[in-house]
Amino acid sequence: MIPIHENLKARVAVITGGSGVLCSKMAHELARQGVNIAILNRTAEKGEIVASDIVKEGGIAISIETDVLSRESLVQAKEKILQQFGRIDILINGAGGNHSDAITDTELFDENTKGKSFFDLDENGFSSVFSLNFTGTFLSSQVFGKELLKAEAPTIINISSMSSYAPLTKVPAYSAAKASINNFTMWMAVHFAEAGLRVNSIAPGFFITTQNKNLLLDESGNYTARSQKIMEATPMKKFGQPEELLGALLFLIDESYSSFVTGTTLAVDGGFMAYSGV
Ligand code: NAD
Repeated sequence: MIPIHENLKARVAVITGGSGVLCSKMAHELARQGVNIAILNRTAEKGEIVASDIVKEGGIAISIETDVLSRESLVQAKEKILQQFGRIDILINGAGGNHSDAITDTELFDENTKGKSFFDLDENGFSSVFSLNFTGTFLSSQVFGKELLKAEAPTIINISSMSSYAPLTKVPAYSAAKASINNFTMWMAVHFAEAGLRVNSIAPGFFITTQNKNLLLDESGNYTARSQKIMEATPMKKFGQPEELLGALLFLIDESYSSFVTGTTLAVDGGFMAYSGV
């Protein structure tokens, strides 16, 4: 069991995409640590479920239907959070994901292969994946940033991916967007360093979640060819469990552990990035 970080008690965390598989775990853990949680999610009902589960467990949480691609929606959410909690200390930019319109059917180009090639990718599909993963983080950081600067030990945690370093095949928009997250994390870290706002990212390795389940498991629940390649490239030989992100999260959020850490992207990947394949 992760120990309680007393200094986090009564802080306020805004978690975009907070009803998702990974960020809902973060929400539950931060609530257990005594942090007041605002779940900002596109789908209201999913956010309500996470918030009410947290409340049942004795935590404090609210859910606000929010589109991270709309400044107006984010500003409205901010007003509700301030009314409810009066401050914001932590922003987790978790809303993100991929879409089939921005995915090629094959890993390598071959003009004789049927299916969606790079040349068939739809511009709007490509842009919307890029926007969700990058612009959603940019806009949320702008809207909540001014409130964060009023806090004693404010911090932003962005959610990157293994695809940000060497891009994964088939997913060019997602990969480019996550690469931009690492870069933007460094940019914001520098920009706000003297103002006291620390900005870091977590780059999860491979976790089986709703979004990628069809790519990673076949109909009988066995590993697909892609999963087998992932296992070969993951020295720990397993997919991550969402709980395995929590130590990294608390380390980055709690300034008593990481007061001199800003601008970094922390990989939580079972060794995937360290392995050359040989
Ligand atoms: P998920 O689909 O379970 O959660 C994503 C959440 O974002 C959902 O709750 C969704 O409602 C929300 N969302 C989508 N568009 C939104 C919008 N416009 N406004 C507000 N909310 C919106 O995904 P997950 O696997 O838990 O991923 C969480 C984050 O981690 C994402 O940024 C993802 O790219 C990243 N990530 C996931 C993995 C993995 O293996 N699952 C690996 C690396 C990085």
